[in-house]
Amino acid sequence: MNNEFAERRRLIGAGLENRELDAMLVASPANVRYLTGFTGSNGAVLALPGERIFFTDPRYAIQSRREVSCRTQVCKGPILPAVAAVVAARRVRRLGFERAHLSYDGFDLLRANMPVNTSLEPVSGWLEEHRMVKSESEIELIRRSVATNSKAFELAARRIRPSMRERDLAAEIDHQMRRLGAEKPSFETIVASGERSALPHAHPTGAALKAGQLVLIDMGAFQDGYASDMTRMLFLGAPGARVKRLYRAVLEAQLAAVDAVRPGVTAAHVDRQARKVLKAYKLDRAFVHSTGHGLGLEIHELPRIGRKDKTPLAAGMAITIEPGVYLEGVGGIRIEDTVVVTPTGCEVLTPTSKELRVV
Ligand code: ZN
Ligand code: ZN
Repeated sequence: MNNEFAERRRLIGAGLENRELDAMLVASPANVRYLTGFTGSNGAVLALPGERIFFTDPRYAIQSRREVSCRTQVCKGPILPAVAAVVAARRVRRLGFERAHLSYDGFDLLRANMPVNTSLEPVSGWLEEHRMVKSESEIELIRRSVATNSKAFELAARRIRPSMRERDLAAEIDHQMRRLGAEKPSFETIVASGERSALPHAHPTGAALKAGQLVLIDMGAFQDGYASDMTRMLFLGAPGARVKRLYRAVLEAQLAAVDAVRPGVTAAHVDRQARKVLKAYKLDRAFVHSTGHGLGLEIHELPRIGRKDKTPLAAGMAITIEPGVYLEGVGGIRIEDTVVVTPTGCEVLTPTSKELRVV
């Protein structure tokens, strides 16, 4: 991986001129990890045309020696004044920074420690655009994260009984993930039963699972830094005609969207395929979010698989496909897989069956 990190840093250094920058400061944890492999919480990379410098503090001195292959400066105090000192010494005139990540305090601290003739230039999405297309080693890590997640689902699902509380099922899922090699869930595990399944981002509660209810489980793992994401539906008892019809609609929408994924089509085109199916069932207005999102070092990355995203898909992108319908007072249904765009179409990484699981 060290070569891969060095190559990513080189690409950022080589891209400075095009952006009319003399240097770029990267400090968001996911972008720092992307450029260096550093897994700690306090680090930054200063990319200059001919060299890249990693900054951290003494708590991470040992760890950074193990993880980071580029030149490292361990700062006694806050990192940003140390970055500013290097910027001044190298006579940087235009310093780029990540506008979505640098805090107002951080901006002030940089400004106060830099020469007056150095300008701070806001940059958005540069690293994030690089991160959209995954390397083979990244896809392998996502594949492993997906496998762990699906295995954890199987083990936890076997323990489901009526009267189990949502919160206990969520804890069981998280426990199984960790046992199987995940560092942590990639977001707070969602277990939502009955009418609460109509809340797309429900937090698990103390409510007990009851016969005759839908249960929505949305879960993902972070393993070796890479995210997975999956939603599956359970039904306690025998589902009636209405639930079966809703389920069929969402499944058809999900399959239609997956079918549309291939290089060259836009993210919006994929989103449209899911909406078209739900419209035929008169359920399009119950689909209140976008069809999916990129994932990788973060659970939500570019591209967004939504109505307005014109990003053309490219081989190597890892995205979710997750249409859903949410009916107040009834419940919600969502089906979500993690897929990778291939040169000819896509590969669904999630191995878990998409049948409505009856327990
Ligand atoms: Zn999800
Ligand atoms: Zn998702």
